[in-house]
Amino acid sequence: MRVLLIGSGGREHALAVGLAADPSVERLIAAPGNPGIAAVAELRDVTATDPAAVAALAVEVAADLVVIGPEAPLVAGVADAVRAKGIACFGPSGAAARLEGSKAFAKDVMAAAGVPTGRSYECTTDAEVAAALDDFGPPYVVKNDGLAAGKGVVVTDDRTVAEEHARDCGRVVIEEFLDGPEVSLFVVTDGTAAVPLMPAQDFKRALDGDAGPNTGGMGAYAPLSWAPDDLVERVMAETVMPTLAEMRERGTPFAGLLYVGLALTGKGPKVIEFNARFGDPETQVVLALLATPLGELLHAAATSMLADFPALRWHEGAAVTVVVASHNYPGTPRTGDVITGGEQPGVIHAGTARREDGALVSAGGRVLSATATGADLAAARAAAYALVEGITLEGSHHRTDIALGAVEGRITA
Ligand code: AMP
Repeated sequence: MRVLLIGSGGREHALAVGLAADPSVERLIAAPGNPGIAAVAELRDVTATDPAAVAALAVEVAADLVVIGPEAPLVAGVADAVRAKGIACFGPSGAAARLEGSKAFAKDVMAAAGVPTGRSYECTTDAEVAAALDDFGPPYVVKNDGLAAGKGVVVTDDRTVAEEHARDCGRVVIEEFLDGPEVSLFVVTDGTAAVPLMPAQDFKRALDGDAGPNTGGMGAYAPLSWAPDDLVERVMAETVMPTLAEMRERGTPFAGLLYVGLALTGKGPKVIEFNARFGDPETQVVLALLATPLGELLHAAATSMLADFPALRWHEGAAVTVVVASHNYPGTPRTGDVITGGEQPGVIHAGTARREDGALVSAGGRVLSATATGADLAAARAAAYALVEGITLEGSHHRTDIALGAVEGRITA
C-alpha cells in the first residue's frame, strides 16, 4: 500500500522507520517530514494543519492510508478532510481529538464514563483559581485548557507561580495532585475494538532527578518490569473501553491512537491526561520493540478491521531513548547549530533541518532522540547513551538518568 505520513517530529521519524520496515508498505511519502525521515521516505511539502491541502496531497499521491502524527492537524480536522475523499486515515476526527484539544472536555468525558482520574475544577477567574488552589493545597497542578505542545502544565508548590500560570492561560483546569510513578499506554483503536501497545515511561522534567521545568519529554523506556501484571488489563477495562463507549454515545467515536497518561497511585491507576496521538518520545521505544508490521496495524484501525487483527508480536528485550535538546530548551531554544552524528542508526530526528550547504542543523527544542534496544534495560540504556556520545551539538543538553531508576530497581508501583 501507499502510505502518506503527516508531521515532522521525532514521533513521525519513529513512525516512518516502522512503516518503512513493513513489507506491505510499497511506497512511503512523508509531509513535510524532516532530514531524518528523508532517509526512509519520499518528502513532500504541505501545511500539516491545512485539511484541504493534506486531503489534496493524499489524492495526488493516491494514498491507501494517511497516518497523521501530531495533534494540531487532528484538532484542525485533517482526518475528516482525508476521509471525506474516501481515503483511509489513521487519526481521530476533529470532534474526537477534543479529548486532547481541551482538558475540560476530557474531564467531562472521564466523569461521564466513570474513569478514575483526579478531582478538578475548570477556572477562568482569579476567584475561581484561588478557591480551587485552596481546596487542593500544594503541590498545585494547573493546566492550560487548550493545546500547549506538552508545556501547558505547571506542577508547583509555589502558589504565586500557580496563580501566574492560571492568569497567563486564561482558562485552566486545576487538578488534584496525583502521586505515583507515571505510565504512558498507547491504544490503537477503530472506535470499537482496541489494541493496547506496550506501556512505557517518559521523563517530563528537563533535568536529572526530575528537577527543572516540564518539557515535551526528555527520554523514555520500555518495558516496565516494575509495573503490576494486571496494569494493561485494568486500564483497558476501567478507562479505555468506557471512554470509547462514551465517545460513541456522543456521536463522535474516537478512532486512531488513544494515549493514556497515568499515575499509578495508591488507589490504582488514574488518568493524568488523554492525547489523541502517539506520544513523543515514548513512540521511539514502543515501536522499536513492536514486531507486528506497523502499516498493517494502523490500516486495520483506519478501516474498522481491528477486531480481527492478530495478536501483537513483540521483540524480546528493552528499548531506551534519550533526547538531545537545544541550548536553553524548554525556554526559547537556540537553533541553527551544526549537528554531527545525526545519521547514526537509531538516532531519531525531532527538530533538525538541512542548511543550504547541506549541513545538518538544529531547528527546534528537542533536536534528536538516541534510541537503542538491548537484551535487557541496562544494555539498551548503555547503547542509547553510547549513541548520545557519538552526537555533537553545541550548547545541547540531555538527561543522564533516563531509565536509571528502573535499572537500579528503585521504582515500585
Ligand atoms: P499533562 O500535559 O497533563 O500530561 O501534564 C504534564 C505532566 O505534568 C505530567 O506528565 C505529569 O508529570 C504532570 N502532571 C499533570 N497532571 C498531574 C497531576 N494531577 N498530578 C501530578 N502530576 C501531574
